[in-house]
Amino acid sequence: MPGSSSTSSCIITIDGPAGTGKSTVAKALADRLGLSCLDTGSMYRAIALLALESELSVEDGPALASLAATADLRFDWTQDPPAMCIGDRDISARIRDLDVSGLVSQVAEQPEVRRVLVEAQRRIAEDHPRLVTEGRDQGSVVFPDADVRFFLDADEAVRAGRRSRQMADRGDQVDEQAIRNDIQKRDQLDRSRAAAPLVQPEGSILIDSTRMSIDEVVDQMIRLVHRETGHHGEDIA
Ligand code: C5P
Repeated sequence: MPGSSSTSSCIITIDGPAGTGKSTVAKALADRLGLSCLDTGSMYRAIALLALESELSVEDGPALASLAATADLRFDWTQDPPAMCIGDRDISARIRDLDVSGLVSQVAEQPEVRRVLVEAQRRIAEDHPRLVTEGRDQGSVVFPDADVRFFLDADEAVRAGRRSRQMADRGDQVDEQAIRNDIQKRDQLDRSRAAAPLVQPEGSILIDSTRMSIDEVVDQMIRLVHRETGHHGEDIA
């Protein structure tokens, strides 16, 4: 986008399996480049929490989708990173618990749910056209024409270790084997589902972070964003 102004749109997508550090990397990249940041996994987790609380079957796609469409799900963009809320209730921490993680991939398998959330994500990008957005289908389905599309991967044991440390830092009790099982189960469901499975989008840039720190991943992404967009300042605008 050579010659574009600071108001021009710029969408960067980051997809990949659970525990690659996508959220941390997306936030750091957005901060460095002066973009907003969208964690789409939070939206699927919010629906899973609603299903839990209303004792709805995670296989009832139409009922989940109408819950998704009618619940006042929103991000509070005054928080950094934006907080996931149902109405005024901040559920950002609650949706990270293992009971929600254990259900979320079944919720995300439902095409009716995906339709509602994909539309919501595209609306968010209209309001925040300068965006780093991360999830499983951002570069493949939601924003196939994004300016730069990354696929972040890492060995499974490394991903489980990272997720455990993240939870321990939050003060949670950590059972590393339970976390590894959760990651394995979600990856298997996310990769094998019919609707928008987790795949490396064709033409996207693969980064294997197994032996890289978060800072190294972000530095490499910044170099690649500059190469892909033709911009070389810290703010790509
Ligand atoms: O990124 P996070 O681990 O919070 O995502 C939780 C779950 O939400 C994933 O395991 C996946 O099932 C689902 N998801 C999805 N599509 C996205 C983001 C998340 O299916 N764009």
